[in-house]
Amino acid sequence: MTATLTSTTETAYFTHLKCKECGAEYEPQAIHVCEYCFGPLEVKYDLERLAAAVTRSTIEAGPKSIWRYRPFLPVTSAEPIDVGTGMTPLIKAQRLARRLGLKHLYIKNDAVNMPTLSFKDRVVSVALTRARELGFTTVSCASTGNLANSTAAIAAHAGLDCCVFIPADLEAGKVLGTLIYGPTVMAVEGNYDQVNRLCSEVANTHGWGFVNINLRPYYSEGSKTLGYEVIEQLGWQLPDHIVAPLASGSLFTKIYKGFREFVAVGLVADKPVRCSGAQAVGCSPIAQAYAEGRDFVAPVKPNTIAKSIAIGNPADGVYALEIARKTNGAIAAATDEEIVAGIKLLAETEGIFTETAGGTTIAVLKKLVESGKIDPEEVTVVYITGNGLKTQEAVQNDIGQPLRIEPKLASFERALERSRTLERLDWQPVLV
Ligand SMILES: [Zn+2]
Repeated sequence: MTATLTSTTETAYFTHLKCKECGAEYEPQAIHVCEYCFGPLEVKYDLERLAAAVTRSTIEAGPKSIWRYRPFLPVTSAEPIDVGTGMTPLIKAQRLARRLGLKHLYIKNDAVNMPTLSFKDRVVSVALTRARELGFTTVSCASTGNLANSTAAIAAHAGLDCCVFIPADLEAGKVLGTLIYGPTVMAVEGNYDQVNRLCSEVANTHGWGFVNINLRPYYSEGSKTLGYEVIEQLGWQLPDHIVAPLASGSLFTKIYKGFREFVAVGLVADKPVRCSGAQAVGCSPIAQAYAEGRDFVAPVKPNTIAKSIAIGNPADGVYALEIARKTNGAIAAATDEEIVAGIKLLAETEGIFTETAGGTTIAVLKKLVESGKIDPEEVTVVYITGNGLKTQEAVQNDIGQPLRIEPKLASFERALERSRTLERLDWQPVLV
C-alpha cells in the first residue's frame, strides 16, 4: 500500500519515507519501522528538482555549517536549529601517512564538531529541527554518551524539554557533559541494547520525540553531511577510500548515501569509492559477519573500552556489511590495547586527541594498510568522530606523567637531562 503523501513547502525537497526492505511508502511523520515488514524507513528526495535547484555555488554561498546542505536534509523550516554544527576541518595527515606508508591520507576531524565535540551534533541538529516541525516539545534519546551530550545541549539551545537515557557505567566525562545542560538523565543499569529496548517502550507510551528511535529516519540523514563536506573540501571530488567507525552502522551507510546523492544530482564526477569500517574486538558483530562471509549480523554482548561504539545489536549492520562488500572495502576490528595505541598514534603524529572510537578507526586503518587492503596511492579519508577529553579513563595509565620539579633552574636542568635519557614512551616521575 502507498500512503497519500503530504506536500512539502517550496524549499523542501524530501517527499516521503520508504521502507528499505519492501519499498512501502509513508508520509514523513515520526515513524521509523515499516508496518508491513518491520524494515527500517528511509527519507526519499526529489532528486530531479534538487539537481535543477542546487549548484556548487549555491552551496558555497550557504552558512558555514551543515545547513549549507539544507536542500538535502529532511526539514521544511526556513530557519533550522543552527548551532554551528559541521564544516569541521579536513586535515592532510602527512606525518601519520608517512608513519603508515600512505601517500594521500586525510583526517575528517569531528573531534572538534560543535557544540559537543562529536559527529552526533550533525544528526541531532537535523532530528531536533524535524522534531520541532512535527510538534514535539520533549525530546529524548538512547545513548552511549556522545548522543546524550548532543541532544541535551541542542535541546537547551532550542528550548525543548529533554530526557536522555544512558547505560549507568558510562565514562564520567560523558555523564558530566550531559548533566551540565540540565536535562533529566536516566542512568539505566544495563547495556546500550537494553537501554534502547526500554526507550522503544517509552517512545510508544509517552509521545516523546526520540531522536534515534521514532525520529531515526530524519536523524540519520544528518550523517550524510560527513560525505558532502569531504567532497567539497577535496575540491569537489570523491575520495578513493574511506575508513569510518561502525556502531549501529548508520553513519557508514549515510556517508555512502551522501556520496551517491551528490553524484546523482551532478555535483561531483562519479568514481568508485571503497568504504571500510572499524569495530572493537570486544563488540564486533559486523566485523565477524564480514570475516565469516555471512549476510546476517548475529548480536553480541559488548565488552570493550570503546563504549561509544559498543552496540551489540546494530540496527544498520547488514546495510553496512553490504556497502563494504559491494564497494570492495573491508571491515576489521581492533583490540583494546590497539585502540589505546591508535589514540596515541593520532595524537603524536597529528595533534588530534580522539576518543576510543577514533582510536579504533586509526588502529583499523593501520591494519588495513599492513594487510594490503588500502593502496598507498589511494586518496584515503579517515573519519574521527569524537573527542578524547571525554574518555580520559581509556588512556590515563598509558601516557606517562609530567616531570615534577622545584621552581629552580638547577632542578629543571637535572630533570631535563634525565628526561633526555629516557625513551619518550617510558616516561616516569623523576624525583629531584
Ligand atoms: Zn517494509
